[in-house]
Amino acid sequence: MMGGHHAASGAAAWVAVTASTPIAFGWYPVSDASVFTGALVCAGAALLPDADHHSGTIANSLKPVSNVVVKGIEAISGGHRKGTHSILGIAVFTAIAWALSFLSIDTGTEEFGAILIGPGIMCVLLVAFALKALKITRDTKIFPWTMSVTLAVLIAIFAPEEWYWMPFSVALGCIVHVLGDLITTAGVPLLWPLKFRSPYWMRNKRGIELDWMWRTGGNLSVPIIGDAGSVREWILLVPISLYAIVGIVWALLNQMGYDTMAVWYQVVALFPG
Ligand SMILES: [Zn+2]
Repeated sequence: MMGGHHAASGAAAWVAVTASTPIAFGWYPVSDASVFTGALVCAGAALLPDADHHSGTIANSLKPVSNVVVKGIEAISGGHRKGTHSILGIAVFTAIAWALSFLSIDTGTEEFGAILIGPGIMCVLLVAFALKALKITRDTKIFPWTMSVTLAVLIAIFAPEEWYWMPFSVALGCIVHVLGDLITTAGVPLLWPLKFRSPYWMRNKRGIELDWMWRTGGNLSVPIIGDAGSVREWILLVPISLYAIVGIVWALLNQMGYDTMAVWYQVVALFPG
């Protein structure tokens, strides 16, 4: 799946799971401010598994820090679409986010107290990923820094208690990414570093014919959208992107004090039955 589409599906998943509006599930409810800030962070987290390729879009999103991070991830994970696209990879990314959520510095002042710099650093990096993939920032050196640092500082100052969702956001984003690549022809090595052939009963003609799910090199694939960047991928991503935008705007309007539910009831009343 293409970078922008991974980002959009990450934002959409965040809205679906965290918003308490009638168009969302609200399984992991967060404040309205966290619905729209978290959507951007989760969009970035949904690009994290592709930070395994030194010449990819992500590598140049926040120079020179992103280049160093990506080189490290590439070396550890065994290269592109290997370790980062597995259950183990998702667990490791989530564990890192969880560990970083304890990293804080005490400012020694009454006003600011202890500042959580761990989640702040993650936020800067993930937001830079998202902005780059959504083509909001191009190859400029300063703009990605100012944008993502400003956002991280705003969250840190105005809603420091909001950071608790950072590990969850990283987990959700990575899961959405791996699912997004699972439905392409190339598939993902879900059980990396283990490599499996298809189980015998799947190849056995008398059993269920599921052998098509196994790609060379042990990748699993359920190629609903075909090759990455296909027309089917675009068709699927239009409603998903629209959903994310509606969810984010809705949370923003709530935050600004608009009575969005009154509007919702009026819209619902237009469809009798
Ligand atoms: Zn990928």
